[in-house]
Amino acid sequence: MINSIKEPYLLTPGPLTTSHATKAAMLRDWGSWDDDFNQVTADIRRQLLAMAEAGSSDYACVPMQGSGTFAVESALACATDPNGKVLVLMNGAYGKRAAQLLHMMGRRYVTLDKGDYLPPHPDEVAALLEQDPEITLVFLVHCETSSGILNPLEAIAEVVHAHGKTLVVDAMSSFGGVPISLAKTPIDVLVSSANKCIEGVPGFGFVILRQALLEAGKGRAHSLSLDLYAQWEYMERTGQWRFTPPTHTVVAFQAALAQHREEGGVPGRCARYTRNRDALVNGMRSLGFSTLLEDEWLSPIITTFLSPTYPAFEFNAFYAALKARGFLIYPGKLTEVESFRIGCIGQLDTTVIAELLSAIQEALADMDVSLIADLSSQFGSA
Ligand SMILES: *Cc1c(COP(=O)(O)O)cnc(C)c1O
Repeated sequence: MINSIKEPYLLTPGPLTTSHATKAAMLRDWGSWDDDFNQVTADIRRQLLAMAEAGSSDYACVPMQGSGTFAVESALACATDPNGKVLVLMNGAYGKRAAQLLHMMGRRYVTLDKGDYLPPHPDEVAALLEQDPEITLVFLVHCETSSGILNPLEAIAEVVHAHGKTLVVDAMSSFGGVPISLAKTPIDVLVSSANKCIEGVPGFGFVILRQALLEAGKGRAHSLSLDLYAQWEYMERTGQWRFTPPTHTVVAFQAALAQHREEGGVPGRCARYTRNRDALVNGMRSLGFSTLLEDEWLSPIITTFLSPTYPAFEFNAFYAALKARGFLIYPGKLTEVESFRIGCIGQLDTTVIAELLSAIQEALADMDVSLIADLSSQFGSA
């Protein structure tokens, strides 16, 4: 996992550190209307359906230009009946963003807000669906990247399915890195993007959804460019994207998919990310840091650490000291406690994590936060 160009490792949940082969795939220009490029598009759509274990006759895969949020927005606009009502399960920024999107689209919604770090419980979801029969659709974030929590997708999907409701899952930061099977788990709509666990570069997201929902979504879009049905209809008819595609990103994504397969697909990638996470969490704990979450809820994607309350610890100085050593970490996104995040995804292995841990030790020394034993008693509690 050596960067051929000396550039910092991105310990962030996307954009992330990509391989040389993925970057090299971008050194060619493509005609967006040309058959060679159309074949790449068709190929990635097929591969994504296979990765999701979706029977391709029931499900369709529709790529959408833009960052992940563009894909979430187009998916919600397509899948939400304007006369329906959405239950948004939230425990962080991405659940909140879904509610904001629904608000802007003028769709009706209610929320179950669990705060910063608690998972929604399947029984609570069942109770809400029974209390309010008007709810037609449930939105869940699988890995809530704000804290790194892995929400109980399978159990919630069973509850939503048993109540006959539609389930939309933001699997942005988990798909490709954590097993998700549409054959086993009743998910109606799944959204992810190029630059997370499949380790492509940014530029598009994709929606895997039941074909019937797509057809019902005709004419529902609030936006010309984010019309998922229109994108699908045009792509089926012409093989092309409806508006200019991010050609280089798409071709890099195809290269990233080949590497994903070589690594053993989702199980192989999940195993590497889990090794990264375990090395990171164990190493950080031995340096005196605490995780926000209990082990049961830690994802193999990103981990939130509580900032030490030790007076000399200052996030910006810590960030700069790590950057100087070749590592970019991620600020926290919690509302109540000071924290920072470190990602485990991208072209990283446990050797990189070991180098990071040494850099962290040096950064603490730089800040005169060197008394690790003292430090651990100074942490605030979650
Ligand atoms: C990255 C991410 C998104 C999309 O964010 P963009 O900045 O629009 O790419 C959405 N949901 C989750 C859970 C994410 O991790």
